[in-house]
Amino acid sequence: RPQRPCITTARERAASTAMIRTDVLVVGAGFSGATAARLVAEAGFRVHVIDRRAHVGGNAWDTVDASGIRIHPYGPHLFHTDAERIVAFLSRFTGWTPYEHRVLASVDGILVPVPINRTTINRLYGLDLDEAGVAAFLERVREHRDPEATSEDVVLNRVGRDLCDRLFRGYTRKQWGLDLSALAPSVARRIPVRTGDDDRYFTDRHQALPSEGYARMFERMLDHPGISVATGCEFDACRGEIAYRHLVYTGPIDRYFGGCHGPLPYRSLSFEFEHLEGVRWYQPVGTVNYPNEHAYTRITEFKHLVRQEHPGTTIVREYPQAAGDPYYPIPRAENEALYQRYRALADGLPDVTFVGRLAQYRYYNMDQATGAAMTAASRVIATLSGRSPPGPAESDRG
Ligand code: FAD
Ligand code: UDP
Repeated sequence: RPQRPCITTARERAASTAMIRTDVLVVGAGFSGATAARLVAEAGFRVHVIDRRAHVGGNAWDTVDASGIRIHPYGPHLFHTDAERIVAFLSRFTGWTPYEHRVLASVDGILVPVPINRTTINRLYGLDLDEAGVAAFLERVREHRDPEATSEDVVLNRVGRDLCDRLFRGYTRKQWGLDLSALAPSVARRIPVRTGDDDRYFTDRHQALPSEGYARMFERMLDHPGISVATGCEFDACRGEIAYRHLVYTGPIDRYFGGCHGPLPYRSLSFEFEHLEGVRWYQPVGTVNYPNEHAYTRITEFKHLVRQEHPGTTIVREYPQAAGDPYYPIPRAENEALYQRYRALADGLPDVTFVGRLAQYRYYNMDQATGAAMTAASRVIATLSGRSPPGPAESDRG
């Protein structure tokens, strides 16, 4: 069994007043920070990683609840990617348990597949269309939008108003506190529309969960003689105790600059976990979405994801909210403009690299955060080695 990395906690550190000297300080131990830390350490530099939370792994961290079921405390995390280099990198630290996510939406008392597919159309409208029939149906109901300037345009252009209102508008209002028409097209483009029977949420070649969990994968990633880790360590509180040559920052970019241009909006969630004793299965698939009912957007049942045998089951309901930990950048033009003002400040700091979902204000999936951090790490290594870094960082966005 491999060694656990040396992780010091806030209490252990309080006993010591020694100054930490490192080549690179990484703020944040999520996918972005851990990936960058590992690659920079493997290039021969000393790396110190801090995270304000009591654990590593960022929002992907997992643990086991009181009943013994593996849960994702920051919401369900399904790993999926087409990028072989990212699979190859992460596979050094974990094996994989294949898992293809399936989602149903509860609409007018029935459950229908999301993304919309042939079954969705046939069930919602009491039809028995074949694939060509579904294509013709969508062609008839869609509202042409060119260009697609907002998420509303994307959905109307693909499936028309009725499906938009029954499956997308209410969910989006809950999730973002905004109408579809106020969000960038990229948000709705995350969800495809299909005319056939494929009911998988993702179609990527690689879809799996780390076989011993995300937390274990992160511990292995950070287990390197060149890496030290401190949890329970807030950057502003610790920075005076750490001497470094280069900073990799994966927290919210506006907070780094003290919010000098005003707060960049991030969307948060609160999670309601419930263990149901003696209930073998709560729902037929991993996630059921509730576009029009309830204050929560979706319920996920973890046993589907982690393939555990257990006489009971654990579910989580997600309640979107404005306040709280920053989880999602909110993709819309005015937020992008504000982000660019912070980005301009960041560009003036050659000794600081901003990378990740919060620092780049990008709606990254885990694989995209990993990819962005791999590229960022190459730049940091080049800079520290006195070579000119490759290409501009902004072109690395996923
Ligand atoms: P984070 O994971 O947010 O890590 C940043 C870390 O920095 C945090 O641990 C934070 O505590 C720390 N930090 C911030 N500021 C400071 C500071 N000042 N001092 C010290 N530490 C600090 N992606 C998928 O691919 N598939 C999914 O199914 C999926 N599901 C998701 C579900 C939910 C509910 C959410 C919110 C996200 C989901 N994601 C999913 C996205 C995934 O969580 C991100 O892509 C990934 O976590 C980004 O990693 P990161 O390192 O950039 O950021
Ligand atoms: N969405 C929706 N209805 C659904 C599923 C998704 O309206 O049943 C919209 C909603 O705006 C959501 C976005 O599509 O925020 C992206 O969905 P995804 O499942 O990718 O969100 P995430 O898992 O990142 O929260």
